[in-house]
Amino acid sequence: MLNTESVQKMSPVMSAYGRFPLKIVKGKGCYVWDDTGKKYLDFTAGIAVLALGHVPDAVEEVLKKQLDTLWHCSNLFHIPSQEKLAGMLTSLTDCDQVFFCNSGAEANEGAIKLARLYARKIKGKKDGHIVTFSHSFHGRTMATLTATAQKKIQDGFEPLVPGFKYLTYNSPEAIRELEKDDGCIAVLLEMVQGEGGVIPAEQGWVTELSKVCHEKGILLMVDEVQTGIGRTGTLFAYQQYGISPDVVTMAKALGSGIPIGAFMAKKEVSRVIIPGTHGSTFGGNPLATTAGVATLETFKKEHVLEHCAQSAKYLNGKLLELKNKHPEAIADVRGKGLLIGVETTFPAINVVTALREQHQVLVLTAGDKVLRILPPLIVEKPEIDGFIQALDDVLKNH
Ligand SMILES: *Cc1c(COP(=O)(O)O)cnc(C)c1O
Repeated sequence: MLNTESVQKMSPVMSAYGRFPLKIVKGKGCYVWDDTGKKYLDFTAGIAVLALGHVPDAVEEVLKKQLDTLWHCSNLFHIPSQEKLAGMLTSLTDCDQVFFCNSGAEANEGAIKLARLYARKIKGKKDGHIVTFSHSFHGRTMATLTATAQKKIQDGFEPLVPGFKYLTYNSPEAIRELEKDDGCIAVLLEMVQGEGGVIPAEQGWVTELSKVCHEKGILLMVDEVQTGIGRTGTLFAYQQYGISPDVVTMAKALGSGIPIGAFMAKKEVSRVIIPGTHGSTFGGNPLATTAGVATLETFKKEHVLEHCAQSAKYLNGKLLELKNKHPEAIADVRGKGLLIGVETTFPAINVVTALREQHQVLVLTAGDKVLRILPPLIVEKPEIDGFIQALDDVLKNH
């Protein structure tokens, strides 16, 4: 990514991000506008946050009412919208209880704490470890960056948190390792690795992994922070793999852009969470959980999952056509649902820049040579066609 503006004048904001040279001031549906009034097609969706697009009417209406009623309330009181959202999530999955927090890293941090507490209290294991996988991404807190098996994320922050072990994603050796690993208390994995290059887990591998976890009493924890809430065409991606995880984490799309995260678990596991074990001031506050309820209600009312699956099929077909047309530029098209990676034979950032500057289309990368395409799930055919035409043009002239 680019950081062209901060050179001359120091920003009062820390330089944690390489930012695109663009100031977004307004959004609606699949489009955003910059401070000069220029309109862009947004296929980044706030990094998989805006499943319903920018400022979706149904959620906006509910939030405006909530702004007139109650913004925040401590978790020392009952919060009805929190109960309601938790009930919706558990009724749609095999999990029984939910804990709300504010971000993806916090959701994974909570899952890690839950796994340790469960191992200690129920299994009598004091020093077990958690297995995560190569190219994973689980967040930026100390425990979650340790869980993230990528040197570039961990560099400079040593000493890391003890109690993690890394195995190779999608590899049969990982299964063999796990079979003989008696210290493992949990595995944490993404069903599609997002930041790591849009790499879907292979069905056969997941089935075997789940079986070994079950046989050895290892908790199966899935990080659905990016894949969850419909991104892959089902509410959670694991639901397409025929597995039943013990713990599921989520965040990005849950609040339609209002910050919220959560981890949920089966009751055998969640029961170790008792007063005093975990907490968060803002976690699950009325505004955030109201946004979550409105988001899930809109999913149901507007058949968003079905629409996403159909749009994904259409977009994927179009991208495969482009791959055939430009074999010298596109090496691979992969992903699940509307979490799509297009592997390029040259730096993907060149495509990102050309799409933005020449066609007013916004997409992301995932690593050096992968374009990450994340339209809002409500995307329609004309927008997909517009995007494909722009990409075709950029590849033609590359
Ligand atoms: C984005 C992401 C996270 C971190 O979420 P934050 O809200 O940025 O803390 C964790 N895991 C996955 C898979 C993600 O995509």
